[in-house]
Amino acid sequence: MNTTVHNFDPQALARKYQEERDKRIRADGNDQYQEVTGDFAYFVEDPYIDSTLERDAIEEEVEVVIIGGGFGGMLAAVRLHEAGFEDFRIIEKGGDFGGTWYWNRYPGASCDIESYVYLPLLEKTGFVPQQKYTNASETLDYCNIIAEKYRLHERSMLQTLVTSTDWDEDLGRWMVSTNRQDRIKARYVVHSNGPLNRPKLPAIRGINDFTGHTFHTSRWDYSYTGGDAQGGLSGLADKRVAIIGTGATAVQCVPHVGAAAQQLYVFQRTPSSIDVRNNQATDPNWMNTQASGWQNERRRNFESIMTGAPVKEDLVADGWTEAFRLLFGSLRDKAPSKGRMAMWAISGVASKQLYQQGLKTYLTNKATQYMNLAEEMELADYQKMEQVRARADQVVEDPDTAEALKPYYRQFCKRPCFHDEYLPTFNLPNVTLVNTDGKGVDLITKDGIVFDGKEYAVDCIIFATGFEVGTDYSRRAGYQINGVDGLSISDKWADGLSTFHGMHVRGFPNAFFFGPAQSGFTATYTYSLDEQSVHLAHIMEGLKERGAQRIEASEAAERKWVQTIIEKARLTADFQEKCTPGYYNNEGQVNTKPQNNMYGGGPIEFFSLMEKWRAKGDLSGLEVR
Ligand code: NDP
Repeated sequence: MNTTVHNFDPQALARKYQEERDKRIRADGNDQYQEVTGDFAYFVEDPYIDSTLERDAIEEEVEVVIIGGGFGGMLAAVRLHEAGFEDFRIIEKGGDFGGTWYWNRYPGASCDIESYVYLPLLEKTGFVPQQKYTNASETLDYCNIIAEKYRLHERSMLQTLVTSTDWDEDLGRWMVSTNRQDRIKARYVVHSNGPLNRPKLPAIRGINDFTGHTFHTSRWDYSYTGGDAQGGLSGLADKRVAIIGTGATAVQCVPHVGAAAQQLYVFQRTPSSIDVRNNQATDPNWMNTQASGWQNERRRNFESIMTGAPVKEDLVADGWTEAFRLLFGSLRDKAPSKGRMAMWAISGVASKQLYQQGLKTYLTNKATQYMNLAEEMELADYQKMEQVRARADQVVEDPDTAEALKPYYRQFCKRPCFHDEYLPTFNLPNVTLVNTDGKGVDLITKDGIVFDGKEYAVDCIIFATGFEVGTDYSRRAGYQINGVDGLSISDKWADGLSTFHGMHVRGFPNAFFFGPAQSGFTATYTYSLDEQSVHLAHIMEGLKERGAQRIEASEAAERKWVQTIIEKARLTADFQEKCTPGYYNNEGQVNTKPQNNMYGGGPIEFFSLMEKWRAKGDLSGLEVR
């Protein structure tokens, strides 16, 4: 048993976490949100283009169509180019490359994963980010640097929305159709349409009645607010503004709106965890002194710490790695090396059943030890979150507001935030936190927002309410995929995801799916995308060597992979069930479809698995013709 004396009561905190979670669990889960259609269809329009591109419809044939011009699509193109494939087209709905960073230009938008690991291909481009944490403008500029270096613009179709992809078995080609009446025949299609691309809205009663101005954070309306991604929102000086949502996006834009608006009401359902950011300028000489291969080593080091794998030193040394070092650090010596995978699981995440069943079988005499590890990790998490909660008390002057801003859940239940200006914003006289205590706002009227019987009259409502996750794939992608015998991907996945390695789907030959579903997921999402791109290029090379032109996941391999995902999902189920609801845990409806998870053994384990699979060189699990 743990005998350390803490300045908190773990049992009381466990009860409090449970109470806070129970307040927020709702039967409607994902159905509490509505699609941005009808009155809100303009929420997905592109506010950043100067003019709509005029061009004739294109009919052509290429080897590969890549759908999506974000980091995933760009990395796919770069890795294909490196493997000698040049006959590809990138189709992107936005006005330029950038994906997430093209759309999310809200004031303060920035990435809180260190830029030296987040921005891919730094060793190839020689780019030196200005700061440890890059902002959205620099990231978008960097996307253009990649696009220029690899001549991606000349192989792209921008401002073009794919409307469907249809497999023609006789031709052995996909027909890719677009909203510009293009008809592109492609032997292969890479679907890299972004896991968080479709804005969502809470289905709040009266939401259509509001007569003031509204927009979603991923389509920031600078023509209304003035200013730019660095702030200076002068257009809000005489405006009463409401922001709904307090996730990672709101945390970054609230300080700028608070600094500019006549009045800001922040409507909070669940507070985010706000840790220290401490951004720093890059030492320009530092990168020059790094040995070749440094970026991969740094990315691997970062993700290894995040998964409890042993590393000699913490290269990134920031709030993320500190949190995981706290969780894993003191435990590492006690853990048998075979249990590394389980350490990922208990980074929050391990179920007691796991210890009692799985681990106990092969670590019989270690089982008790693991129970202690899980308990110690939970204590480390409480300790970390006590620091985060204490910060609210230290920074926020009004005690009730400070209390309301304290998150009561384990740190990785939601995306942890790192920010130094968010909490102080609530000390401004024109900024009010409206704490709905887990309930959400009650009603929207023509004049404003109602909570707890009080109407807050506003001129503008900004929805910082995130993106669709877990809804139908084609709805989020914006196009249908029809495979062999016309089977649609929506029908194929109607009862749950089914893939081989997250990338291949039986019935959908020559299609490659990028994204976290049934695949490895990292906090450094660009790392996952790069690994998927390397994997794609390997398979394409393998097909070329064999003179093959058609691949498809075998039935047996796909079935086995789905089973693997289901088994690995058990590692995380206990943790997720105790978490406050959000998109990380399917709005609290955990494992209703356990196959809809990412690979539960963690990204490093997943990447190693893929590396081993590639090393075998036989494309096993894929039917190759
Ligand atoms: P999120 O889904 O994380 O947050 C949505 C917010 O809206 C939550 O606070 C949610 O509350 C709230 N909400 C939903 N419905 C209601 C309602 N009816 N009433 C009041 N509030 C409501 O979206 P974000 O755009 O903030 O972030 C999405 C993801 O994007 C992040 O998780 C992260 O992966 C990424 N990101 C990363 C950043 C970074 O690197 N720093 C910055 C920004 C985004 P509740 O929590 O109760 O559901």
